[in-house]
Amino acid sequence: MEENSKRIVIVGGGLVGALCAYYFGKRGYRIDLYEYREDIRRSKSPRGRSINLSLSNRGRLALRDVGLEEEVLKSAVPMVGRRVHFQNGKVQSILYDEFTNQCIYSVGRNFLNKFLLTAIESLPNVLLHFDCKLIDVNLKTDELTFYRCSSQDYLRVTGDLIIGADGAFSCLRRSLQSTPLFDCSQTYIDHGYIELRISPEQSHLMKPNHLHIWPRGSMMLIALPNIDKSWTVTLFMPLSEFDRLVYKEMVLEFFKQVFPDVIPLIGTDQLVNDVIRTKPSVLVSIKCSKLHYRDKFLIVGDAAHAIVPFYGQGMNAGFEDCTVLNNLLDKYSEDFGRVLEEFTRLRVSDAHAIADLAMYNYLEMRDLVTRPSYYLKKWFDKQ
Ligand code: FAD
Repeated sequence: MEENSKRIVIVGGGLVGALCAYYFGKRGYRIDLYEYREDIRRSKSPRGRSINLSLSNRGRLALRDVGLEEEVLKSAVPMVGRRVHFQNGKVQSILYDEFTNQCIYSVGRNFLNKFLLTAIESLPNVLLHFDCKLIDVNLKTDELTFYRCSSQDYLRVTGDLIIGADGAFSCLRRSLQSTPLFDCSQTYIDHGYIELRISPEQSHLMKPNHLHIWPRGSMMLIALPNIDKSWTVTLFMPLSEFDRLVYKEMVLEFFKQVFPDVIPLIGTDQLVNDVIRTKPSVLVSIKCSKLHYRDKFLIVGDAAHAIVPFYGQGMNAGFEDCTVLNNLLDKYSEDFGRVLEEFTRLRVSDAHAIADLAMYNYLEMRDLVTRPSYYLKKWFDKQ
């Protein structure tokens, strides 16, 4: 690895920030990664959105490029198709790829984030700084201010390139919004989600290596396998429906009517208690018209293009940002000005396309998958 005296500051040590740090670290730059949370590898109560994620070809390619794919796949569960549970009790498998056996993989979010942090720590030119929350960006002096909760002090830093991988509610993106021609739209959908769990003891009731879906028109339930044989179940439905599930009896009645076959999988007590205890999370989609400012600031991952999760592509698209960035660094001999401009040019339209596909796929998964393709055509005609 060649040494490079340029210093890259990365804000956010989530999935995309960590992979981005690895890419730049492998190129020999001096990297400082600042993460708001404590080190999740030492934390007792790791936070995060979904427990597991589907890793697809786009994300795998990004891992493969820097030699990390093989290790990640060892801890991932292949999913060869959808297993659809219809309202009438019928169950049907729909393979993703009957001919060349391609599949997607279910991988634990915490496992993957910890794995990437450990990988970057192995590079001598990368420094990780936890408990550092970006609170201010000075676009004139290129200075970032971080607040450290444990020592209650402030840290001011700058770099040759500053990359915001600080998620859907990115502080860096908020600052860039004050720069010329930087449009940004944020859309919440009126559906939310909660996560439930099928224990390994009940897993014999689930067809392995599939992404299970219970489509119910205005709502759906999905289940992804974990490496310990448990399944993470996610219930997506209108927030108004969650509001109605106030008492245990109501929860049980709801599941008896809509998802009766899920009750024995989770167990009545567990199911009812988890639904009552869990506050639904909301889902947001972010579209930006630019992803950079001058030759200095760049946003990637959810900071640049948070999308609703129904296409299983948010992380994958964020990982692909790293591949694209890396290729552009090669193509433009590490001239940051040209690289950043070209990154915006290439990624904005792709990001908007995947955001729209993800919105559409909610309808496909919760409703259209149960209907003849005639309805699909009608839906497209209406758009
Ligand atoms: P994040 O994961 O949000 O990480 C941002 C990091 O920045 C965090 O560590 C945060 O602590 C840190 N941070 C935030 N603010 C600051 C600050 N001010 N200063 C310093 N640090 C900060 N994607 C898929 O590809 N496949 C799936 O199957 C899939 N399923 C999903 C299911 C659900 C329910 C949801 C909600 C999302 C799903 N996604 C999926 C999307 C995926 O979770 C995101 O696209 C991915 O996490 C984006 O990674 P990121 O690193 O850009 O952002």
